Amino acid sequence: MPAHEQKVKRIARQLKSRKGKTPVSLKKKAVSHEVPKPDDRRHDDEKIDISDLNDIILIDKRGMLCIAEPGVTFFDLVTETLKHGLVPIVVPELKTITIGGAVAGCSIESMSYRYGGFHDTCLEYEVITAKGEVLTCTPDNRNSLLFQMVHGTFGTLGIISLLKFRLIKAKPFVKVVYEKYRTLDDYRSAIMRHYRAKDVDFMDGIIHSPQEYILSAANFVSKAPYTHSYDWMRIYYKSTGSLKEDYLRTRDYFFRYDRGVTNVNPKSFIGRLLLGKFMDSNTVLRLADRFRRFIPASRIPITVDVFVPFSKVPDFMDWYGKEIGFFPLWCVPYKRVREYEWISEELLRRTDDVLFLDLAIYGLKKRDKNYYRMIEDKLLEIGGIKTLISTNYYSEPDFWRSWNRENYFRVKRRTDPDNIFRDLYTKTCRAARGLGR
Ligand SMILES: Cc1cc2nc3c(=O)[nH]c(=O)nc-3n(C[C@H](O)[C@H](O)[C@H](O)COP(=O)(O)OP(=O)(O)OC[C@H]3O[C@@H](n4cnc5c(N)ncnc54)[C@H](O)[C@@H]3O)c2cc1C
Repeated sequence: MPAHEQKVKRIARQLKSRKGKTPVSLKKKAVSHEVPKPDDRRHDDEKIDISDLNDIILIDKRGMLCIAEPGVTFFDLVTETLKHGLVPIVVPELKTITIGGAVAGCSIESMSYRYGGFHDTCLEYEVITAKGEVLTCTPDNRNSLLFQMVHGTFGTLGIISLLKFRLIKAKPFVKVVYEKYRTLDDYRSAIMRHYRAKDVDFMDGIIHSPQEYILSAANFVSKAPYTHSYDWMRIYYKSTGSLKEDYLRTRDYFFRYDRGVTNVNPKSFIGRLLLGKFMDSNTVLRLADRFRRFIPASRIPITVDVFVPFSKVPDFMDWYGKEIGFFPLWCVPYKRVREYEWISEELLRRTDDVLFLDLAIYGLKKRDKNYYRMIEDKLLEIGGIKTLISTNYYSEPDFWRSWNRENYFRVKRRTDPDNIFRDLYTKTCRAARGLGR
């Protein structure tokens, strides 16, 4: 991998030669999938340029493995692996989410009920520390804690420069069956049934309203009587309420929500006819980033993604219905495949659930209440956890009640002693809102 080594050397050299201790941020090629944060201090940081780390190095068909650089997008990855009849095990459904971003941030999808997140399918990372050291991290070597902690710490422990991960066999089409339920109890029972039986390849769903719960149970199939794609006039999440079943080409299935999960714009027939083809997630996020200074904060819709322990879903939904009451919600059952090192011991102690339900809110309008803070408080009460992609209001003590402070700083002291990547709390809860350094 000489070309890869050259790229890594260049990045390491930049870090080694840095004298100051002011914060740095990454410059990637693909757009960032974070909620637009106009005041984020990262916009003014010195940049570490990783925009050439975009190559797939190896697809090992027999070993069902892939080695790739972090800037590879899931769309490009799926396109290449499908040529070998393989796909990554968890494919986040927006086309330009990168594999490095999925590990450093979060990644869930309809295979998560069996396999957890994309990071749970990874076998090895190469990480460049703030001092320009290049570390190989596996679950068993001397960097094993860094291997586990690099997930969800938003690049604050180092730069992932290479990933090795498992692939799974795929077929050309996916058949989706929409199971419809009228009550949350019936919905939960159906999810638990599939979870225990492991009888489908994919499971996710849409709660259209408190009376309409759709579970999308899907399988790879070799043949399809017809196929639909959802990249223009048709809106995928809506189709889950009107169809009994559907067939999609495998790649179209993975990116079926790319026009927006449940917040698809434009909504009108004419709007979709004229612009629907062009308004994919990549374009929307690029426009939002480019014009961030001109978008009033009150107009940026709320995007929140929460992991609720399965046994606490009725409690959460009861509270949610009374306090927020915004639908539709995207639901992804998620298996916690190990006692994650990045979760605090307090939270692990309080939560016996192995299965979580990831609930994603897209497009909720801001009102006079601070919905983010309300959701954070409710999650602290029930032992849930919020992904940090949205705006975060946690106080520092509350934050470390969910995330594992001890493990985090054990690694941080080793990989970024001068704190140039910022610490996780500062980066996601303060700097992202324009506060602190
Ligand atoms: C509107 C919206 C919809 C979303 N929908 C989904 C979804 O359907 N499914 C899902 O799983 N997730 C979803 N996400 C979350 C998304 O997967 C995560 O935010 C993910 O981290 C984005 O990856 P990215 O490649 O865009 O990384 P970025 O957004 O660019 O980066 C995320 C963080 O990781 C850091 N980072 C990026 N690359 C590296 C690297 N190589 N080394 C170290 N740190 C790095 C960045 O500095 C940043 O802090 C959504 C997010 C948004 C805003």
